[in-house]
Amino acid sequence: MHDYDLVIIGGGLVGASLAVALAETGLRIAVVEATAANAPAHPSYDERVIALSLGSARIFQGMGLWPEIEPDAAPIQHVHVSDRGHFGFAHLDAEDEGVPALGYVASARAMGAALNARLEASPRISLLRPARLQGLQISKARVSLEVAVAGQSQLLTAALLVAADGGESSVRKRLKLQVRDRAYGYDAIIATVTPERIPVITRPGTAFERFTDTGPLALLPMTEGRYGVVWTAQQAETAGILGLSDEAFIEALQARFGARLGELTRPSRRIAYPLRLMLANQLTRERVLLIGNAAHTLHPVAGQGFNLGLRDVAELADLLVDAQRTAKDVGGPAVLGPYCRRRAPEHALIAGLTDGLARLFVNPFGPVRAARNLGLLGLDLLPPARHHLARRFMGAMGRQPRLARGLPAESALPPVSSE
Ligand SMILES: Cc1cc2nc3c(=O)[nH]c(=O)nc-3n(C[C@H](O)[C@H](O)[C@H](O)COP(=O)(O)OP(=O)(O)OC[C@H]3O[C@@H](n4cnc5c(N)ncnc54)[C@H](O)[C@@H]3O)c2cc1C
Repeated sequence: MHDYDLVIIGGGLVGASLAVALAETGLRIAVVEATAANAPAHPSYDERVIALSLGSARIFQGMGLWPEIEPDAAPIQHVHVSDRGHFGFAHLDAEDEGVPALGYVASARAMGAALNARLEASPRISLLRPARLQGLQISKARVSLEVAVAGQSQLLTAALLVAADGGESSVRKRLKLQVRDRAYGYDAIIATVTPERIPVITRPGTAFERFTDTGPLALLPMTEGRYGVVWTAQQAETAGILGLSDEAFIEALQARFGARLGELTRPSRRIAYPLRLMLANQLTRERVLLIGNAAHTLHPVAGQGFNLGLRDVAELADLLVDAQRTAKDVGGPAVLGPYCRRRAPEHALIAGLTDGLARLFVNPFGPVRAARNLGLLGLDLLPPARHHLARRFMGAMGRQPRLARGLPAESALPPVSSE
């Protein structure tokens, strides 16, 4: 039997980030991850390109991991939002916001490699993999877990169990925590392409979000002159798009996106992800809490899922460090209560915003289309509205935990608020 302060189920992008963030705090931590270390494919560290907000880059700085991630991260200097075939468009600019970049684009695989290397090197973190949760019991003082590690059963106990096991969270299901869940009937098809020569009218470091009649299409600047494509397609269309030859795929993409990046070449392998909205109604049970996709799974239209999960990590790290310093129970009400109060409103807000965007921009009804074009134009012409939106998506609003200010979780400085 092994006893820990914290057991994290799921060592994907969010679970691994929490463990790394807490590695120097003295808390005894175990990470239980289903995928083997040498598995050729990982469900979290895959081909996805992730738009990281400036706030997320700061959190990685606080974790001391940004120097490992930055070489693979391309800065976003400008965002261009448009509605295909219509007049509305909007721009966001890093310079207008007084920041070096609005965010960064990095591959999930590169972030996973950096997180994994840190997990393996940390003497205070027990990394159990390939491992799966087999049984779970909650008593007043402890959570008891039965875990199969490489086929062998192990018993673990902990003050707190953190479920970071993704959208299909087995912890959440075992505890029968209820969710609001809706499938969109769309897939996100991802790939990378390389523009042959970017026209001079297009500024370097521009991320494009283009709303089309069948869903949003994003092209995100990456390192080595590549662009990450996130093409939202109705599920009935997916097989056809995946099955296109490279030439036909580029032709179809170019027809949807237009000429802003000139001729697109060298498409990579295409992968499809089904899209859904899932929001847990309840983030905690006695000695258990949900973070990342286990608590919220979003449409990727505004690139917010992992950013929201990293803010869960930053808030939770603050609460755990404060509880530890004041000799409070890290699995008790001093952590669980404030975690719910601080995170649930932001989960609901960001889920509502992304869901609204995803649905508004596929609505072909004339008045809705006209209104959204006016909305985009209004956003472009009204600096305060634009500024507010940019700050919200940069993760620069609200309470700023230590990690979100670029400080280590164990820093002695208190958290601050910035509205
Ligand atoms: C196409 C696409 C584009 C996206 N783009 C962006 C973007 O630009 N910006 C952004 O912020 N977000 C983006 N996201 C969202 C982002 O990918 C997710 O929010 C993020 O991966 C969630 O990480 P997670 O660790 O919570 O969950 P997951 O990535 O699902 O990881 C869960 C982990 O738990 C493990 N696990 C599962 N069950 C068990 C078990 N029973 N026992 C042990 N381990 C288990 C899994 O092996 C996995 O490692 C995008 C998503 C998609 C689909």
